[in-house]
Amino acid sequence: MTNLATFVVNSAAAKGDRIAVRHDDSTLTYAQLDDASARLAALLHDRGVRPGDRVAVTMPNVPLFPVVYYGVLRAGGVVVPLNPLLKAREVAFTLRDCEARIALVHPLFADEVAKAAAETGTACLVTEPLAFDDVLRAHEPMPVVDRTDDDPALILYTSGTTGTPKGAELSHRNLATNTATTAETLLQVGPDDVLFGGLPLFHAFGQTCALNTAVAAGATLTLLPRFEPGRALEIMARDGVTVFLGVPTMYAALLHAELPEGFDAHRLRLAVSGGASLPVEVLHGFERRFGVTVLEGYGLSETSPVAAFNHPDRPRKAGSIGRPVRGVEMKLVTEGGGAVPPGEVGEIVIRGENVMTGYRNRPEATAEAIRDGWFHSGDLARVDEDGFYFIVDRKKDLIIRGGYNVYPREVEEVLYEHPAVAEAAVVGVPHPVHGEEIAAVITLRPGARATAEEVRDHVKDRLAAYKYPRIVTFTAELPKGPTGKILKREIVVTDR
Ligand code: AMP
Repeated sequence: MTNLATFVVNSAAAKGDRIAVRHDDSTLTYAQLDDASARLAALLHDRGVRPGDRVAVTMPNVPLFPVVYYGVLRAGGVVVPLNPLLKAREVAFTLRDCEARIALVHPLFADEVAKAAAETGTACLVTEPLAFDDVLRAHEPMPVVDRTDDDPALILYTSGTTGTPKGAELSHRNLATNTATTAETLLQVGPDDVLFGGLPLFHAFGQTCALNTAVAAGATLTLLPRFEPGRALEIMARDGVTVFLGVPTMYAALLHAELPEGFDAHRLRLAVSGGASLPVEVLHGFERRFGVTVLEGYGLSETSPVAAFNHPDRPRKAGSIGRPVRGVEMKLVTEGGGAVPPGEVGEIVIRGENVMTGYRNRPEATAEAIRDGWFHSGDLARVDEDGFYFIVDRKKDLIIRGGYNVYPREVEEVLYEHPAVAEAAVVGVPHPVHGEEIAAVITLRPGARATAEEVRDHVKDRLAAYKYPRIVTFTAELPKGPTGKILKREIVVTDR
């Protein structure tokens, strides 16, 4: 049995008085999380939620998130987490697409969701924090509704490799096995661990690797609703964080942030990066500054998400996403689906217990993504003689300049080596002769200076001539997605 909802029940039975989630001064023990989520399940049942019904959830990283998440699952429902920053139009699209029975929303984000709910005729419940405690108390805890391993537990909206958002449907088996693998073999989490909860919980990475992993192990998750490096450092010291989880932009920010007076994070034993390539310079800098090993992993919403990881029991390779994890197979294929010769670049395809059942109501998109049982990731990689994968780039981020393939990632790695560079993104811009030209958009470290020529020459000295950025521009901030990933497609190259 791999019903995700039982994670809470089991941890509450084993260690009810331990803190499950913390947000500054407010905490929930496992017993409280168990009780509140069982009451929330009863509330949803009273509102007509039946096994298999979709429940949209718009919630920041606060203790109510896990109450709602496991409450929906206990009622047999399917959680559809939404990014709180979505506008009414986008919420309405999702509510319609997943045919949500009800939308649950935190008061901070109620306006847009209520508008979308009214437009689509979806029931909407605002979780006003204080009154909500009373609301929960008015319902008797409900037993966990049985689900089979293949029943859907979660729908994650993602644009995948192509076009409009689609709902990746993940089963209890997908998520429970991926969580168990993460908790047991990768992060090796026990009840005394404190996990950093700064990744958004509505996203696959935060949900499986921080929330479900912590709850499965009976550990503590300490939440930070909006990532800010100073706050993150405070929390790491205050709560004795043992495992830090973040995306590369968080690592870059922490590398340059001022340490609070008397900063002490001696309990920190592991740092995990995923979601985008972690520049090697940033990895080494973080390891030096915080005296902890950084392990990079890789995955997608469609793969629950963890597919590859640098295993903690063997030497990690900087710049590599590691090897496929337990229960997962991975290989590289050519455009036509053929085998890729050793050392060459190919598309990562994935097979295993973590691969989604499909995109909801999109048989064609599903058939396009999962061919011959292999999920096609759209990510390009090489594999070395030890079986470690190195992401080269996204298929669609590849720049073709005058017939030569340029992988932005490679150029970015070199840019990060420049002492003045804080963050760098390399994109292709249309060019009448070369088809595409290479442009680098850069943010500088606080107080640092550099000219476009210096930066350009820095790359020119280190890479083949067709790869260096002919255009270098500076910006105060790069556009970022909800997890902090740099959004290449939103970068506008102005100063040319
Ligand atoms: P999402 O579905 O939002 O989790 O995005 C999945 C995508 O994130 C993948 O297809 C990759 O392009 C990217 N990604 C995840 N982890 C890594 C990593 N370690 N290195 C490079 N790209 C990554």
